[in-house]
Formats: sequence, C-alpha cells, structure tokens
Amino acid sequence: MIQIHTDGPDSIEPIEPLDFLVVAPHPDDAEIGMGGTIAKMVNQGMRVGILDLTTGEPTPFGSEEIRRAETIKATGCLNPTWRGNAGLTNRELVHTIDTRKHIASYFRMLRPRWVFAPYFHDAHPDHVVATDLIEAARFYAKLSKTDMPGERFHPERLYYYFCVHLRLAVQPDWIVDISETFEQKLASIQAYESQFVQGRPTEPPTMIDRLKTDAAYFGNLIARRYGEPFATKEPIALSSLRDML
Ligand SMILES: [Zn+2]
Repeated sequence: MIQIHTDGPDSIEPIEPLDFLVVAPHPDDAEIGMGGTIAKMVNQGMRVGILDLTTGEPTPFGSEEIRRAETIKATGCLNPTWRGNAGLTNRELVHTIDTRKHIASYFRMLRPRWVFAPYFHDAHPDHVVATDLIEAARFYAKLSKTDMPGERFHPERLYYYFCVHLRLAVQPDWIVDISETFEQKLASIQAYESQFVQGRPTEPPTMIDRLKTDAAYFGNLIARRYGEPFATKEPIALSSLRDML
C-alpha cells in the first residue's frame, strides 16, 4: 500500500537517511523531470524520496481527490522509498521564513545526501519560487539553536532537473541514460490522466509524443535511446570514471 505522507515534517518517523530527495512544486513535476532516473536509481537499490510542495490543484480536469489517486498510481510506477506532500498552496507558493523552515524541516527529518530542485529558469511562478525556496531551505537545514525538528543537517549536493514551461534549448551539465526505465517514466506520467490525457489535443504531437521526442533527443546526445538532462551550479564530483559512458 503506497502512502503519501501529508502530516508535516514533525510527524515523520525516524528513517534511514535518503540517498536523494526530489522536491517538486506539483505532483507530476518529479515524474516529468526525472522519472526515468528515479526509477533507475530505485532499481539499483538507492533510497529515493519525492516531496511535492503543493497538491497542484485546482486544474481544469483535476480535483484534490483525483490528483491524490493519480499521485498514488504514479508513485507505484517508480517505487520510491518515501513520498510526501508539504501542504503548501498551489498557485500561491511564496518564499517566507515560515515556508523556508517548513521545507528545511523535511531535509532535517529525511536527511537526503542530495536534493534535486526544478531548473532555475522557468515561466511558472510556483516553479521559480520552489527553486529559490529549496536553495534557502538547504542552507537553513544546517542551523543550530532553532525550533525546527530534527538535528542540523546539510544536503551535500543540490542539482536541478528540467520540468520547465519555457521552450529552452537546454545545455545540460550531464545526462542520465534512461533507456531501460523510460517505459516506467511514461507510465508514471500517464497516471496523471487529468493533466495529460483529458482535454489535451489528440492530434500529434500529443504531450506524450513531445515527452518521447525530448527523451530521444537527450538520449541521442549521449548515443543512447533515451536520456534525462540535469544541471548543476557547482562542479560534479566523481569518485571514479567507471560509471561514465
Ligand atoms: Zn509544476
């Protein structure tokens, strides 16, 4: 039974630290941006979490109940270790000291080694605010003498996935080969029927066609079938050259 944690960071039971946490403004952003990588890393035994900041509702064909059911279905396609919803307000996401401490508290309780945030250039105000909020929360999570729950903690790395509302000619810093998990990614996105099927144009290119084209394009850049792009502000640290393709 898939559980979406919605009771706030204070109520998170102590768990083994996560390898990484993907923070998404809305349920479906993590799937679109890096569903293939999430599935691949889960399949390889990493402890992966997804934290949705808002419910993503209202939308034209969705509702709180529908979106929750779709999120559960999508989560079942990727099998992350943990998924939660931070309960912030969709369309009204703002970076305040309170929301910063709220997200920092999740980092202190889940202790992810790395955090993934949406790419910092976007047209959607919730996405832009989310990135800003996550960057500040990462710093705030390491503060002492605070009323935030958990121990002080600083995620070692912050990376960015692409789920943007701008037509960008993206120059990624690295690309993950998701050929083996692309179908899992696609299934997780198709789970959000109210977002990507209902009311969407059925003439090609459909939303799904465009996702396939993007994944094939990034795959082509690394001479693989499908790929997912990422960005980083700091250099990538490698312990070995073994995993480079
Ligand atoms: Zn979004």
